[in-house]
Amino acid sequence: MARTYLEPASELPIYDECDVLVVGGGSAGHSAALAAARAGCEKVILMERYGYFGGDVTGGYVLMIPALSWQNFNCVRGIQEEWFVRLDKNAPDSYISPEREEVGEKDAFKLERWSLIHGCVAPDKNNPYLIRAPYYEPTQLKLEFDAMIQEQPNIKVLLHAWGTRPIMDGNTIKGVVFESKEGRQAIFAKVVIDATGDGDIFSQAGCPWEAGIPRTEDVRENRGGMTALVWRMGGVDFEAFARWAKDNPAEAAAFRQNLNKIAGYLTGFFPAGSNEIVWWNNWLPNRDCSNLDDIRYTEFTVRNSIRKLVEFCRKNMPYGKNAYIYDIAPQLGCRSSRRLVGEHVYTRLDIATGAKFDDVIAWHSVIPMVNDGAPIEIPYRIMLPQKVENLLCPGRHLSADADTISGVTLIPQCVGTGQAAGVAAAVCVKDGTTTHNVDIKKVQKILCTEQDVPLPRQENTDPELVRALEEYKYGTYTETAKKVRAAAGLDW
Ligand SMILES: Cc1cc2nc3c(=O)[nH]c(=O)nc-3n(C[C@H](O)[C@H](O)[C@H](O)COP(=O)(O)OP(=O)(O)OC[C@H]3O[C@@H](n4cnc5c(N)ncnc54)[C@H](O)[C@@H]3O)c2cc1C
Repeated sequence: MARTYLEPASELPIYDECDVLVVGGGSAGHSAALAAARAGCEKVILMERYGYFGGDVTGGYVLMIPALSWQNFNCVRGIQEEWFVRLDKNAPDSYISPEREEVGEKDAFKLERWSLIHGCVAPDKNNPYLIRAPYYEPTQLKLEFDAMIQEQPNIKVLLHAWGTRPIMDGNTIKGVVFESKEGRQAIFAKVVIDATGDGDIFSQAGCPWEAGIPRTEDVRENRGGMTALVWRMGGVDFEAFARWAKDNPAEAAAFRQNLNKIAGYLTGFFPAGSNEIVWWNNWLPNRDCSNLDDIRYTEFTVRNSIRKLVEFCRKNMPYGKNAYIYDIAPQLGCRSSRRLVGEHVYTRLDIATGAKFDDVIAWHSVIPMVNDGAPIEIPYRIMLPQKVENLLCPGRHLSADADTISGVTLIPQCVGTGQAAGVAAAVCVKDGTTTHNVDIKKVQKILCTEQDVPLPRQENTDPELVRALEEYKYGTYTETAKKVRAAAGLDW
């Protein structure tokens, strides 16, 4: 039996009270705080354990946002697209992507250019078209995230503050205890949003949750159980390299295989928003980013390999002879650990059947593993815990099963669920209702009409997008979708 220590009870200072407390300022939490404040909450508190916002997006150097468009529709907008509207204005050279006006285009010259950049051209060889998929400079986004929050006088920010446990009254959450350089204190709130990514708050609140991802070495099968420490390499000519790789596929495959051998784990580099720099992604299988041994293993294993990889590139990478270590992400790359088991658990069957939800709050393309990238409906209930009231859990720990989680927690879905959680919390506070009884129609209306989030079956739903999706059968025709349905006993 594990040894234990009985911590003495102590009286804690109450630091503050608010309408909505958001714990975690990653893409989900940052969006939640903004959306709640913009939806009219008088006082929102956003608590973040590091000194900046963005989580994986900025500190973890996840530098690519896939599938903001589908066919010729810019279907993911809201706060997600606002990042790039702001970068267009304030730091126009800080990201690369096909333009909003170009999505769906099939111009041969443009397809040739963008085919060098993973994710910017639809993968179907018979029907390639341009997709909006920005690669960005994380430092510029960090600055933009600061500005977005500081523009909202009704958001109070706590940086370097770590939410440690929920304050419960029966099944209702009432606030959170946190640690900081000022010591341990409490904050009370009408609604709490757990956006820590690892369920730090919901895992102690008495609601069901799960941990553990199926063991697999195949990154295409399930990235969720794989940790990472991302880093960047400078001094290269990425476009020239990518062109060489396209013209010499066998040599390029051998080169990439050698990178894995040298590292001792699966790794590879991608563009980084600037031609001279690449970002090294990696996938260390069967690791959990909430486990201390796995965290240490990942940090050391990746850092121990970086000099060897750079040295290899200087000698063997076409257009890489001047390569050098540009920087290493300041925080671990966390894909998945604890997952909420919410009022709805999202599964591949939802994707394979093109499921429609009355409480839809986001309408996004996901990794085309099941439905050829057609937008799916994401319901409010995947961030609503069972049993516990006034707690919402958007972001990468949302309620999806272990096979599905890594496909539905890409950055756009974390931003989208975060934004919806913020609006829902604001509606609860304004109407004096709870998270289980929130007027979901009001939430959808605010998202659609005030916060630029396209949703199905609303007054302003784009009928062309619906028609295109119906024609596409929601992507349910794929072999994978058929297999998923067959496994569930559905024979269509
Ligand atoms: C290496 C890697 C590559 C990826 N590649 C892609 C990709 O190419 N495209 C894509 O779209 N997605 C990708 N993903 C997935 C995507 O980046 C994440 O799912 C998403 O960014 C998670 O956002 P989040 O806000 O839910 O969580 P996080 O980004 O983890 O944010 C959680 C925030 O909460 C803070 N926090 C945590 N605990 C506490 C606490 N107790 N108290 C206070 N603050 C706390 C953290 O510091 C952090 O800021 C990748 C992920 C990784 C790790």
